[in-house]
Amino acid sequence: MGPKTGLKVYFDGKLVDASQAKVSIYDHGLLYGDGVFEGIRSYNGLVFKLKEHIDRLYESAHTILLKIPLTKTELTKAVIGTLKANHLRDGYIRVVVTRGVGDLGLDPRKCLRPTVFIITDKITLYPEKLYKEGMEIITVPTPRNLPEALNPQIKSLNYLNNILAKIEATNAGVAEALMLGAQGYVAECTGENIFIVRDGVLKTPPPYVGILKGITRGCVMELARKIRVPAAEEMLTRHDLYNAEECFLTGTAAEIAPIVKIDGRVIGSGRPGRVTLRLMADFRKLTKTDGVRV
Ligand code: PMP
Repeated sequence: MGPKTGLKVYFDGKLVDASQAKVSIYDHGLLYGDGVFEGIRSYNGLVFKLKEHIDRLYESAHTILLKIPLTKTELTKAVIGTLKANHLRDGYIRVVVTRGVGDLGLDPRKCLRPTVFIITDKITLYPEKLYKEGMEIITVPTPRNLPEALNPQIKSLNYLNNILAKIEATNAGVAEALMLGAQGYVAECTGENIFIVRDGVLKTPPPYVGILKGITRGCVMELARKIRVPAAEEMLTRHDLYNAEECFLTGTAAEIAPIVKIDGRVIGSGRPGRVTLRLMADFRKLTKTDGVRV
């Protein structure tokens, strides 16, 4: 699938037709996955958690010593401007900053100017049926990147670790993969964080297992506390997941998706749980009121 006709994208300071936006074959984002990105969402003209996403993008860039050639305010304006140009009120926004055009060596000093682009479009991660009935996932053989080697907090353009896991899930006939850390503790899914409800407590793995600290994850923990469901970061095993009352995953694109079967084990009642459904409803409400206006 290529770009939709008429879709405008932000590309190095200008709004251009998506078909005109071309990245060089010498761009290190393409050659080496050297770059960072964010996935953001807007609901009915409100961009959800925009500041948090922009902050995380600059943190990822800072760690890989990539200087984004715009201030945070300029980039925020560019995001809003791209949404406006496409008259998109409910959209998915992809902000990408690559190291830029260099030579065929790794050395980032050869890349003189980062490439910046913003795509605003639509996204559907899983079929609607999976949100109503809950989905089945499996643990895959590919472990999550070792945080000591490549910290998953860096939302880099190198997603091969997660792509391998996604392929393993697809090969097994399920929509999503559960990835473990190197020690065998539960980490996250391919682009989503994972939660369980056990003994009435909401639990999710801590960042040091080697996960991306999801913005939706933080939001869901806050929502849980508001309804007096305690929320805690805890090292989780697959046994904890199999014997949980409820399980779900979270992410900007996925939102909150209930999980009802893991590695053939039915979770709880085999239907989306009470806390999960409440959090899904509260999350939906929050997206209607909380956000930066387009
Ligand atoms: N984990 C990974 C590996 C991700 O790429 C993402 C974002 N797509 C998430 C978790 C969820 O993060 P957020 O809620 O900030 O979208």
